[in-house]
Amino acid sequence: MKQDVPNLLALLKQHFGFASFRPLQEQIIRDALAGRDVLALLPTGGGKSLCYQLPALARPGLTVVVSPLIALMKDQVDALQASGVAATFLNSSLNTTEARARLRGLHQGQYRLLYLAPERLMLDGCLADLQGWQVNLFAIDEAHCISEWGHDFRPEYRQLVRLREVFPQVPFMALTATATERVRQDILKQLHLRSPGFYVASFNRPNLTYRVLPKAKAAEQVLAYVRAHPRDSGIVYCQARKTTESMAGRLAEAGVKALPYHAGLTTGERSRNQELFLRDEVRVMCATIAFGMGINKSNVRFVMHCDLPKNVESYYQETGRAGRDGLPSECVLLFSAGDVVKHQQFINEKPDPREQQIAREQLQQMVHYAEISECRRAALLDYFGETYPETHCGGCDNCLAPRATYDGTVEAQKFLSCVYRVRERCGFGVGLNHIVEVLTGADTEKIRRWGHEQLSTYGIGKQHHRSEWAVIGRELVRLGYLRQTAEKFSVLELTPEGMAVLKQRQSITLTQPMALPEAKFHRAGEITCDEVLFEQLRQLRKQLADERGVPPYIIFSDVSLRQMARNYPQDESGFARISGVGENKLREFGAVFLDAIAGHLRTNPRQVFAEDWSVVTPARSSGVNDSMRETMRRFRAGQSVKEIARQRGFVPGTIYGHLAGAIEAGERLELDRFFSAEELEKVAPWFAKNGFANLGESLEALGGQIEYGRLRIYRAIRNQQAKR
Ligand code: ADP
Ligand code: MG
Repeated sequence: MKQDVPNLLALLKQHFGFASFRPLQEQIIRDALAGRDVLALLPTGGGKSLCYQLPALARPGLTVVVSPLIALMKDQVDALQASGVAATFLNSSLNTTEARARLRGLHQGQYRLLYLAPERLMLDGCLADLQGWQVNLFAIDEAHCISEWGHDFRPEYRQLVRLREVFPQVPFMALTATATERVRQDILKQLHLRSPGFYVASFNRPNLTYRVLPKAKAAEQVLAYVRAHPRDSGIVYCQARKTTESMAGRLAEAGVKALPYHAGLTTGERSRNQELFLRDEVRVMCATIAFGMGINKSNVRFVMHCDLPKNVESYYQETGRAGRDGLPSECVLLFSAGDVVKHQQFINEKPDPREQQIAREQLQQMVHYAEISECRRAALLDYFGETYPETHCGGCDNCLAPRATYDGTVEAQKFLSCVYRVRERCGFGVGLNHIVEVLTGADTEKIRRWGHEQLSTYGIGKQHHRSEWAVIGRELVRLGYLRQTAEKFSVLELTPEGMAVLKQRQSITLTQPMALPEAKFHRAGEITCDEVLFEQLRQLRKQLADERGVPPYIIFSDVSLRQMARNYPQDESGFARISGVGENKLREFGAVFLDAIAGHLRTNPRQVFAEDWSVVTPARSSGVNDSMRETMRRFRAGQSVKEIARQRGFVPGTIYGHLAGAIEAGERLELDRFFSAEELEKVAPWFAKNGFANLGESLEALGGQIEYGRLRIYRAIRNQQAKR
């Protein structure tokens, strides 16, 4: 129905204050309005709620939303009410009077949306009541809860099929962020979906930056990170309950507001801690994986994992809680090989061999993610069967600062031949640890029993530590020269490619181990704004939220506040253009926020922001032309110089020229996007000694590896730092 197009957009702006749909939202909404069943797989933060909330407002009748958690329902209903939408929920948290009042409202047709817990449906009279309320859609949120294969199985969800029996004519919309095929099939089957519209969004989360750091002292690493991001709120996941407590304690000692969350706390403590976090009273939640689903807080800026998650799916879900508002956010995994061993021991204790095997495969994939030297985003998406189209995402440590490599031919030869010799002697394969022990000449019971101290490869790898050999071994697996089986004693086998390496003495490039933790974390693509004003608006938001007893993000998201602190709206019409400002919020909050902005401008200068990037003071902007601006925009969005050059049809030198010019005009860029640590170690002393007078000469003196364009960048950034 064509005439709906402007209507839907108008409704979107009117009620929610958004100017456009996120991917697939509009198609899903259209299907729902046409009475079709829908199965929608959108990543966390993809905007699933809107898919059923907007249809509810587009026509008369009641939309029933089934949702698994009481906290989740309350949060969504609060948010809808803040936008002026008549929504309510029924669950066991209400007292009788309150529940009666709501039922009365429902009988009178006062509500457009009703949130229900699935167990509620089975209560006496609920289905009969629903029959009298003109239900036009059943939305099943977190639909993976219906599947035993998902990570959050809720047996009550199995009851939902009764809705289908009682309301054969009412369409279903099932929504989830869980993408695995098995769960998908389960949802289709259990809910009896009828040739549903099937929508799968990309699971790429472009605003998330992925990093892996070698784990040293986790608590100190977390503290350093949290200190480096003094205003950001985040989740720190730990495996053990007691670690969440000691971690929160350590942070609190250092003056960071942090609390623990785990299933061992009382219900009261859990909901209190969660509430404090949602309300921005507490900045960091140190939690086990019990903390998660239903955390709709949109401004979680980082998710750190202190321990290795058990599989990639969980890691993806947990990191997905960062940056729902679409602003840049970070996911940091602290990785140590010791964690892998702990997982393996745990897996070995599982009674069912089939389960063990699945767990082992999943663990291998997780370790693969942690150790890979290529794009992490591509690796994550690959796990979900999605191909990331670019070679460099610009949003993971490996793309931002590619790890150095070395000629590992000798190491590879030693390792592979050791695998070969061991099998030759024993007639059976052994695990990675045993190979490492043979290489390093260890004296173990097994080595003696099998006579491995007599192998020609015994002790030929003493120049490396055992942990280094383990890293090399795992990289050889990743590179396809070895295969690791997933049985109880997972053994290494040479692949045909590995055999070829041995026979032909092929040269092999390996990756340097990860550098030790840096103190600095750099985040690309932030919406630049007047930080002082942003801070004031945050305080105002907090105050308004407290008065209303709701979390701050229900008043406005960080995106809205940042836009305000960038555009400085002066009147209602300017305010209405801010993303997230619908009619109701304009009416309710327009005046106070406009006041705050005007008050700020009375005593502070208005900063000028270029169209879509960074601060430019008018005097300086003269040297920056449109082409440079376009380069900057792409570079800030995370593209590499090579990519920009290729896509814009320039040579990389031109792109470096644009960037150097922009830096000279006052733009700030970080050295680490252009140079590896090793390169800096060469470049810095050279220039410190010889100055910047002759770049051509420097190019030669430095061995010609670092292009002229990058030397220019180096000079521009250093000159800029000197002036500050
Ligand atoms: P999900 O349930 O898929 O994780 P939500 O429904 O909680 O995601 O939405 C995540 C965030 O995105 C919310 O803050 C929501 O207001 C915002 N959002 C949803 N749709 C849009 C849109 N079309 N434009 C801008 N923001 C949107
Ligand atoms: Mg949701």
